[in-house]
Amino acid sequence: MSVFSSKHFDHHEQVVFCCDQASGLRAIIAIHNTNRGPSLGGCRMWPYDSEDEAVADVLRLSRGMTYKSAIANLPLGGGKSVIIGDPLTDKTPQLFAAMGRFVDSLGGRYIAAEDVGIDVADIDIIRTQTRHAAGTSDGSGDPSPSTAQGVFVGIRAAVAFKLHRGTLAGLKVAVQGLGSVGYVLAELLAAAGATLFVTDIKDDSVARAVRELGATAVGLDEIYGLDVDVFAPCALGAVINNQTVPRLKARIVAGAANNQLAGSPHGQALTDLGILYAPDYVLNAGGVIRIASEGPTIDAADVPALIEGIEATLMEIFTRAEAEGRPTNQIADRLAEERFARV
Ligand code: NAD
Repeated sequence: MSVFSSKHFDHHEQVVFCCDQASGLRAIIAIHNTNRGPSLGGCRMWPYDSEDEAVADVLRLSRGMTYKSAIANLPLGGGKSVIIGDPLTDKTPQLFAAMGRFVDSLGGRYIAAEDVGIDVADIDIIRTQTRHAAGTSDGSGDPSPSTAQGVFVGIRAAVAFKLHRGTLAGLKVAVQGLGSVGYVLAELLAAAGATLFVTDIKDDSVARAVRELGATAVGLDEIYGLDVDVFAPCALGAVINNQTVPRLKARIVAGAANNQLAGSPHGQALTDLGILYAPDYVLNAGGVIRIASEGPTIDAADVPALIEGIEATLMEIFTRAEAEGRPTNQIADRLAEERFARV
């Protein structure tokens, strides 16, 4: 296993391997960058096939948090943690208590929150051992509605920039994934008068959107080739790839899913086709903004305004990208790097 020489390492400040024999905990905490403040990021629980896979995942995700918090102008750095285990069978209170003690041992350099495989109840147990855990049941709770609000703001901005329209009324939007974020986003879009096309592997979520929001159900694969104004990926990463790019007819790609581009060149591919890509980590920062309001520097009352701020950041990215003839994902990365570089 390589850490320093991993292609995802990218100057991480600290990587901590955690082992607690009594509870069986095996976890990794990665702190990418703390220039802007303590690192904050979700704790993921996943049955990784190998330790290499777990290391790659935690490094990639913690770096992503540095970019997300910086671009949202939060006083936070980037970090993430992974627990190696199956969330369906391996969860015990002892395991999360041990995780809490490891988080605490970092003295606030890393603040744990929810991620895949972890729910609020697990964070509550971690919180019994450390004050450096956020998104607890008595804290800001589920961040998904705030994430959806930010994505909605971002779609509005992309539509204004690309289509020169001040309203979403009458626009066709394809939403892929109707989970915690996607369904709330679909509700916001429907309320704004958009015409929705939806898909999900869960038939009941699709049926609900058809029934409650007047959406049109489409197939899992059909969603890519729809003649719509906006394609909003809200399920999986890497959905903008060699297979899907040539099929896209949407003029804008803007959604909640993390790591939508299979690789950085796919941002260039979208640009070449005249499709405006709203970089995912700019759009989906609403949740981390809300979680940050549990800290001392952000007031909960300021959260809506900070989420609205996603619009101004996107406009800056779109304008710079157009002026320089470069893809929006590259411009977003550079803007984030400017914001977390040590001065
Ligand atoms: P979720 O698990 O609640 O919802 C995901 C939905 O996608 C589920 O309904 C699932 O059935 C569906 N899905 C899975 N595979 C699919 C496929 N092949 N085609 C269509 N639908 C499929 O997750 P979420 O919290 O809503 O997050 C959605 C995305 O947004 C994820 O990529 C997540 O990383 C990202 N994100 C979420 C938040 C947040 O606050 N929850 C914040 C930032 C980013």
